[in-house]
Amino acid sequence: MIEDIKKEALELIRSAKDSAAVERLRIRFLGRKGEISKILRSLKDLSVKERQTVGPVAQQLKKDIERLIQEKTAVFSKSIQQGLPGIDITMPGKKIKIGYLHPLTLIEKEIRGIFKAMNFSVVEGPEVETEYYNFDALNIPKNHPARDMWDTFWLQNSQQLTSDKEQLTKGQESKVKGQMLLRTHTSPVQIRYMETHKPPFQIIVPGRVFRYEATDASHEINFYQIEGLMVGKTVTLANFKFVIQEFFKRLFRSDIEIRFRPSYFPFVEPGLEVDIRCIKCGGRGCGICKDSGWLEVMGAGMVHPRVFEAAHYNPRDFQGFAFGLGLERMAMIKYNIPDIRLFYSGDLRFIQQF
Ligand SMILES: [Zn+2]
Repeated sequence: MIEDIKKEALELIRSAKDSAAVERLRIRFLGRKGEISKILRSLKDLSVKERQTVGPVAQQLKKDIERLIQEKTAVFSKSIQQGLPGIDITMPGKKIKIGYLHPLTLIEKEIRGIFKAMNFSVVEGPEVETEYYNFDALNIPKNHPARDMWDTFWLQNSQQLTSDKEQLTKGQESKVKGQMLLRTHTSPVQIRYMETHKPPFQIIVPGRVFRYEATDASHEINFYQIEGLMVGKTVTLANFKFVIQEFFKRLFRSDIEIRFRPSYFPFVEPGLEVDIRCIKCGGRGCGICKDSGWLEVMGAGMVHPRVFEAAHYNPRDFQGFAFGLGLERMAMIKYNIPDIRLFYSGDLRFIQQF
């Protein structure tokens, strides 16, 4: 029975939250009618033998409780002296749950930082686009076979969005003509930016894009791109090579070998693909690079004269490079993520690793 009281008393006093609670416990156990006092008083009714065993235990318990109450009171009066309310500052605090940044947020932040350090501005554009900005102005006219490269989500209510046609000038009308769509790439922002700015400039355009296609380990119906555009009087592919080499060096924090391969995109001429030496195997060949030793990471090229014309630049006055890369692809390479669908699965076990 004494053991039970001891256990309860010590536990209660230890977890007391303020000095008033300690005082209540002092009265409950040590007060005149307190539980310990009662035991001590009842000793006289016991036999001599019982008294010899119970007595010292009860006395010891009384001392233990007194000492603990003293310690506890000291803690509270100390916190009051320090200007804190009478709380036990030695009690363990409640753990606050903190969130995690999504790996796509992390990589976008890092890429923005790298380009900003190289004097690029960050520009954004609408996710719902007109056919004009998404295709026509980028030298991908209707019925052009190249349009098949972009499987598109078309919007049905395009008529509403393009009402008030009477108030539009002829030039404006051609830009809203055609159906509305979910942009298939961030490239329309190139045109939108050039329409309102004069070179020289260098921008990056991070943003969400949409493709009407089946999902698998490397394809999603929506994903994130970063577009780059640098225009001036003398901007060449040599400038691009430097910028992009510097970018990969900073992103992967090591000297990364890159190579250019000729390729075709309607809005650039010449067009090229950029590969980097496989991060995983260093070029010897592995599953990630499909034994080629190289990873495809972006499309790029010199801006096509027709694109400049669409933005009312004289292509003889200016030249520049453009590039586009997939954020998911970068994150998959950098963080060693095997499946693009993980980014959108909402699985906390995935997110909590970052
Ligand atoms: Zn490899």
